[in-house]
Amino acid sequence: MTSETGPTAKPWIEAIHAYVPGRATGADGRKLIKLSANENPLGCSPAAAEALAGVSTGARYPDPDATQLRAAIGELHGIDPARIVCGTGSDELLNLAAQGYAGPGDEVLFPRYSFAVYDIAARRCGAVPVEAPDRDYGADVDAMLAAVTPSTRVVFVANPNNPTGTFLPVDEVARLHAGLPRDVLFVLDQAYGEYLQPGEDDGGLALAARHDNVLVTRTFSKIYGLAGERIGWATGATALIATLNRIRGPFNVTVSGQVAARAALADQDFVERSRRHNAEGLARFAEAVETLGNRGLHAVPSKANFLLVLFEGALSAERALAALAEAGYAVRHLPGQRLPHALRITIGSTEDMDEIAAVLRREAEAAV
Ligand code: PMP
Repeated sequence: MTSETGPTAKPWIEAIHAYVPGRATGADGRKLIKLSANENPLGCSPAAAEALAGVSTGARYPDPDATQLRAAIGELHGIDPARIVCGTGSDELLNLAAQGYAGPGDEVLFPRYSFAVYDIAARRCGAVPVEAPDRDYGADVDAMLAAVTPSTRVVFVANPNNPTGTFLPVDEVARLHAGLPRDVLFVLDQAYGEYLQPGEDDGGLALAARHDNVLVTRTFSKIYGLAGERIGWATGATALIATLNRIRGPFNVTVSGQVAARAALADQDFVERSRRHNAEGLARFAEAVETLGNRGLHAVPSKANFLLVLFEGALSAERALAALAEAGYAVRHLPGQRLPHALRITIGSTEDMDEIAAVLRREAEAAV
């Protein structure tokens, strides 16, 4: 006989709103140019593509410790590989950080307008997600420190931030860290860190090297153009790395992922090219948006590979979203993250960004 009710999920799991990924199809099912998931429009390094093409069958499990990949990451960044752990995307590592250090009744703190996974990561382990008020769509260090309570166990900050592109400079990151109790884990998520220009470093890796309570996460999904391979990494004190190693999947980075990531790391010219393409495209697109300021369109200053465009005039974000889909583009609308008045647009090719700017201008001028 079958049960009427079936198993009951834990109430804190029931409370989770599943992550909504950026998609590439329009409402009518049409395939669109995808500028909704902050992927690299240049793809990945040709060397990484070649390495991927050469991967043989998946009959064998991967190296469970991603030994060569960790060595290559360590060499590039000057980090002891013993202080590095790789993950199935940095998503896995963010979740493991929450799971390792927070549980029922504990608080996990992050700024308003943060990466959606932080809320899910907190709820997954029964902890309470707590949002600190933002300042101009970015993290506000004073508000963050004021929101710390004796129950705070983990603090997440993405720098640059998703979905807003805002950046917390090195002195502000240091001030936030210095103000946190020593037994609170500070997770600095640098998924977009490689998009910063040389000299713009937020000091995260140095903090993680010096302090027992700082974990920095990075990914191969963004500038390295390997989102489909699902590889991220984290660095911090060996005790933190040991915690994540205890609870991660035993073979969490695939054979192809390890091979591709190593080839990608070795091609820093591609990274440089991607950084330059993004910086130029971002500046050009932001400028185009700002010329529509008199129509109520504004760009939040971004240091990532996307721009958050605010619609504060007659043209609504919904209408702009529909017009862009009509023109063949998928961008990100985030009403679930309380940004119904904004679109997050990944920087694509120069032609695509010029076309998007033209659509926004046409729609803004037509709106009354
Ligand atoms: N952190 C931030 C801030 C992100 O925007 C993303 C990707 N959307 C991630 C982490 C996760 O990336 P991945 O799991 O592909 O490494």
